[in-house]
Amino acid sequence: MGLQAHAADYSGPLFDAHLHYNEEAWDGKTGPHPPADVLGRMHKSGVRAIVANSRPNTGSLTLAGLPQTREAGVAVVPFVRLYRNRADYSGWFADESIYTMVQTELARGTPAGPYRGIGEFHLYDSANADGPVAKKLMALSEERDLVVLAHVDDAAIDLLMANTPSKGRKLRLIWAHTGIGGAPVDRVDALFARYPGLVGELSYRPGLVCDDNQLCPAWRALLLKYPTRFVIGSDTWVNQRWQHYESLMAGYRTWLGGLPADVARKVAWDNAAGLFGTPAPAPGAAR
Ligand SMILES: [Zn+2]
Repeated sequence: MGLQAHAADYSGPLFDAHLHYNEEAWDGKTGPHPPADVLGRMHKSGVRAIVANSRPNTGSLTLAGLPQTREAGVAVVPFVRLYRNRADYSGWFADESIYTMVQTELARGTPAGPYRGIGEFHLYDSANADGPVAKKLMALSEERDLVVLAHVDDAAIDLLMANTPSKGRKLRLIWAHTGIGGAPVDRVDALFARYPGLVGELSYRPGLVCDDNQLCPAWRALLLKYPTRFVIGSDTWVNQRWQHYESLMAGYRTWLGGLPADVARKVAWDNAAGLFGTPAPAPGAAR
C-alpha cells in the first residue's frame, strides 16, 4: 500500500458537471426522486453546484427555479438538452426542429439565468458529427460562448471541433466520460494538446480507478499533466444513479484525496466553476 491509499478523502466542495434530472426521476408531479430528494442527496454529498440538463428541459427549469435549491446551497448552471424524448437521441444531428427548440430555449432562459451550454448529446456514429444540425449547433455554441457537453468518441471530437469557426481553437467542450469507449490515454493527451477548450468529465471512464480506489497510474499522470482540464460528474441518466448518488460522490472524494490538494480542488470544483464564473460557495456552509 502506498501513501496514496492512506490519504484522507477530499473534503472541499464538489461541482457536479454532468447531471440529469429527467422526467422518470420527477415529472413535475410524481416520481421517485422529487426535488427534496435530489437536493438532499447533493447537500449530503457536499455538491454545491451542478450542470443541470434534463429530458425534457422542464426538469432543469424546476431545479433552477426552486427556492429550495438556493436553500440547499446548490448553484444551478442550466444547459439546453437536445432531447424532448428518447426518439431524439438518434436523430438530433439532422433535425431542424431541434435547432429551433434550442434557439427558443436560449431566448427564454431559466429562473437561474441564461442557459450556459448545450447537451448532453450523444453520437453513436461519429460521422453524424457532420450532420447539418450538429454543424449549426457547434457554430452557434462557439459564437454564443456556450459550453458543449458531448458523449462522443475521440473521432467525433475532431469532427465537432472542425465544425466551429475557429476550428476548435475557441470552443469549450466538456467531453462526457472522456471517451466512454476507452480512448487510449495517449489519444486523450493528444486531443487535450490540440484543443485548448477541451475538458474531460470522468464518470464511467474505463481504466480510471484501480483496485485501491485511487486513480490508476496513467490517469493520475494525465490529471497531473492537465490539472485545469478535468471535472467530475454523476451522470444521473437513469434513476439507479440517483439511488447511488452519495456513494458516487464519496468515490470521487476517495481518489481526489490521493491527489495533491491544489489539483484535487481544481478537479472537484475550480475547473467547472471557472468555465461558468460560478462563485466559490460560502465557507463553512453546508457539507
Ligand atoms: Zn449523461
